[in-house]
Amino acid sequence: MFNYNIYKTGYTKKREFPEWECPLCNKGVLKYYEPSFTVLKSVDSVLNSTNEFWSPMYDKNSFAVLLICTDSNCRHTVLCTGIIEFNDTIYKDDETDNFYTEIEEVLKPRYFNPSLNFFPIIKKIPHIIKNDILLLFNLFWHDTNSCANKIQTIINLILDKLNIPSTYSENGITYKCNLSKRLEFLKEVNNEMTELILSNYWILKDSRYNLNISRSDLFNAILHLEKIINMAISSFPDFKDELNF
Ligand SMILES: [Zn+2]
Repeated sequence: MFNYNIYKTGYTKKREFPEWECPLCNKGVLKYYEPSFTVLKSVDSVLNSTNEFWSPMYDKNSFAVLLICTDSNCRHTVLCTGIIEFNDTIYKDDETDNFYTEIEEVLKPRYFNPSLNFFPIIKKIPHIIKNDILLLFNLFWHDTNSCANKIQTIINLILDKLNIPSTYSENGITYKCNLSKRLEFLKEVNNEMTELILSNYWILKDSRYNLNISRSDLFNAILHLEKIINMAISSFPDFKDELNF
């Protein structure tokens, strides 16, 4: 079962990796393989560590680790790399009422190979869309706005696959449809799906205004995308590829 919070925040404290679902078998969960954990110190961290004012808070190190599927018939490994940062948190000692600071290691995963699945890549999803979904899953970790753009691309691919027109003619001139125009055409055949795509459009609004979209919004948009794909599969018999990959 997915640990949704780790997807939303995008970090893990003290090497407590969540039990992400294995992307290969979709049955086992991924366990952190401690002997593989490698810290790669940046040149700046090495040079600055001799400075008398140095603190771990200034370090910008990277990590690499293997995660191994617990399913005995799978045992697949996933490589996870990312950056290590440190947060200082103030705690209160209940006995003395004094405050003290603790520096905590924070791991921010930036890349998985193979990518983790946010939802199952079922066979009925057309091949051309599957490829972009896999890219989307990895972009989530290191480039949130590109991930948001990829969602919009996938929605256009879905509309292409449903034969929703991408151009229209007016006074003898052919124009390219923007999303809102394409949704007018979709509405004529499936109002519910039109509403789903529209709500996803609004979840992603920050990325269109060059603001950094939050991981929480992005995560919700990905779950929304799964609903849109499932609706395309259930409502449009021609959606899936003739060759079932
Ligand atoms: Zn597995």
